[in-house]
Amino acid sequence: MPNLISIIIPTHNEEKNIPLVFLAVKKAMEMEVNYDYEIIFVDDGSDDESVHEIKKIAEANNNVYYLEFSRNFGKEAATSAGLHYARGGSVIIMDADLQHPPSLIPEFIRKWENGAEIVVGVRKRNKGASWFNKSCSLIYYRLINAMSETTITPHATDYRLLDCKVVKELNRLTERNRMTRALIDWLGFKREYMYFVADERANGEASYGFFELLKLAMNSMVSMSLLPLKLAGYCGIFIILTSGPLGIFIFVEKYIMHDPWGLSISGSAILAVIILFLVGIILACLGLMALYIASIHSEVINRPLYVLRKSKVKSP
Ligand code: UDP
Ligand code: MG
Repeated sequence: MPNLISIIIPTHNEEKNIPLVFLAVKKAMEMEVNYDYEIIFVDDGSDDESVHEIKKIAEANNNVYYLEFSRNFGKEAATSAGLHYARGGSVIIMDADLQHPPSLIPEFIRKWENGAEIVVGVRKRNKGASWFNKSCSLIYYRLINAMSETTITPHATDYRLLDCKVVKELNRLTERNRMTRALIDWLGFKREYMYFVADERANGEASYGFFELLKLAMNSMVSMSLLPLKLAGYCGIFIILTSGPLGIFIFVEKYIMHDPWGLSISGSAILAVIILFLVGIILACLGLMALYIASIHSEVINRPLYVLRKSKVKSP
């Protein structure tokens, strides 16, 4: 429905934030006279009163819907579930903790009206984040951009507006270990950026600790890039190329020419070169196996071969 805007809010233990975020979204959307809106709360197995709060709001407002997970499946799953049920011409994904200011929604919509198919919220400063978290995220973005084929904008957040075309494509992707952000970047489409300052979360604590973030980072690296697998192979080839000629040189110098330069290379040095050469072969074989795994991996995640923006064709 082109005049409907869906707002997806994943929640995990956000009892205090839910009424606040609802009021803030409502306030922002009431200024948008040309659009209707629906809010889809996706409760990701909260142990507090979040579900109760959501139900209360959904009963009082008939444009508020919810999905309640049977346990905690993680934010990526919650967002995906929301996207499956969103009916709007555009969909906005936002956190429940007010770190993604709802007052910016109108600006997201303006960019969409001006032709952007994806509007990505980019964080200028994150007030709550520690020095350690900031450096980890810097290293992560450097690494992943060096490794993967699609560029990922540093500090791009999950606060995004997606056109329904993008949502349709995103819903076709079947891979399980997913990072929604990275998948959206993979899809392409015309994008615009919205810069904002992330406040500290309104109430409660961030459920994403260091280890959850690490897991998410690993997932996105593994699914976005094959380079770590290939590195072992390159390393092996390098070792073969250096230790092979060295071994031949030692063999010729010592046993065929009977040490004309008086190097008197010891037995253990020769052994070391042989072992190095064999390790090189093993690593090169690992790299080769990595290529097979990589091709299996790309078959298994089953991404579409291409993504269309529009088409005018006759079906065969
Ligand atoms: N969240 C979720 N499932 C989880 C963890 C978090 O749905 O397992 C939601 C949470 O309720 C919030 C958003 O994801 O709306 C962002 O979570 P958080 O504030 O903990 O992450 P951060 O702001 O540190 O990225
Ligand atoms: Mg947060």
